Amino acid sequence: PLPAVVGSDLLVPLADGRQVPYANLDYAASAPCLEPVRAAVAEALPAYSSVHRGAGYASRLTTARYERARHTVRAFAGARPGDAVVFTRNTTDAMNLLARCLPEGTTVVVFDSEHHASLLPWPRAVRLAPPASPGEAVRAADEALAAIDGPKLLVVTAASNVTGELWPIAALAHVAHERGARIAVDAAQYAPHRRLAVAALDLDYVAFSGHKLYAPFGAGALVGRPDWLAQAEPYLRGGGATRNVADEVEWSTDPEQRHEAGTPNVLGAIALAAACEALTATGWTPIVRHEERLTARLRAGLPEGVRELALWGPDHPRIGVVSFTVAGHPAREVAEILSTEYGIGVRDGRFCAHPFVRALLGEEGDCADGTGAAVRASIGIGTTEEHIDRLVAALHDIVRR
Ligand code: PMP
Repeated sequence: PLPAVVGSDLLVPLADGRQVPYANLDYAASAPCLEPVRAAVAEALPAYSSVHRGAGYASRLTTARYERARHTVRAFAGARPGDAVVFTRNTTDAMNLLARCLPEGTTVVVFDSEHHASLLPWPRAVRLAPPASPGEAVRAADEALAAIDGPKLLVVTAASNVTGELWPIAALAHVAHERGARIAVDAAQYAPHRRLAVAALDLDYVAFSGHKLYAPFGAGALVGRPDWLAQAEPYLRGGGATRNVADEVEWSTDPEQRHEAGTPNVLGAIALAAACEALTATGWTPIVRHEERLTARLRAGLPEGVRELALWGPDHPRIGVVSFTVAGHPAREVAEILSTEYGIGVRDGRFCAHPFVRALLGEEGDCADGTGAAVRASIGIGTTEEHIDRLVAALHDIVRR
């Protein structure tokens, strides 16, 4: 059985005055909280105090919970024993932290198919066009890395937030290491839907966000090799990141403390860890089976006139993210009709991946507003057959209009 999600009984007022249960098909943006996550936060709320400093009971209890959360996240990521787990605000924050920790002169290789969070933070980047096949991705990364002297880092998504497609991260890690580079993986979309395995896949860094992983907003993590982190300028300068402050500042060389100055988001970390525990306890097989069944049902039901966005074709393995355009209807209009007439929540736009969506839309990129946009339906633990069937029926109505 899958864990219950909070808010699955939410009602939506429709334009015609009716109320219907909300069909949340926007998990890729932010997923609802799991009940065990709510329980963990409720348990921590009555006795919390600042971590790492206080001698009081509540402070010691909170510190223990915070450090246990770090341990849980490390295990969830399948990381090596010595890997650092730095709590961040989200994936964007984690990638920006990593960008500040790169050795002097590092060149980053990144595909244009990345989310902006993984495309934009790098001071020096070689940008590659979205590849025509997974094999092509590996070849293009290999070629680009071979041409670079000095420190290098390959940054790549594990699962696309636009097409849902799974990327060949094990093969990419292999070529990166053969070329003397490291690899950082954007697991924002992957972590909620497949088992992360940092050590087994030989990844150097992964980043993910709690709010896509069935926890509330404001906590994410960068997990990975400690050496670059331990030597870099502290991400934030302030209390907690220092060993001793006199005329000179002596920064902590602990990679986690060094980059977590200020009072951390303890409840966010506890919530993130509770989500990790709930997913692990559920097991990936039932989660993947549930999501694959519903994704197939949605894709099989799409009417003619609805075009799916995919880089590597409809049969390439993917998570439950289905982006599409509807002939004759701008994405914004479709999303608004789905919301106000059917009570369905989807996202429309370019999903913070402008170069990628532009490349996928091609000619069709010229919607009413001239910018090009798509609609994205995304599936998770709380998605039901009824949600899928309602979306399919609504799309049939819309194309008939
Ligand atoms: N990477 C991917 C693949 C994403 O889908 C997202 C969120 N849309 C991000 C990074 C950024 O996540 P956040 O907004 O939580 O920083």
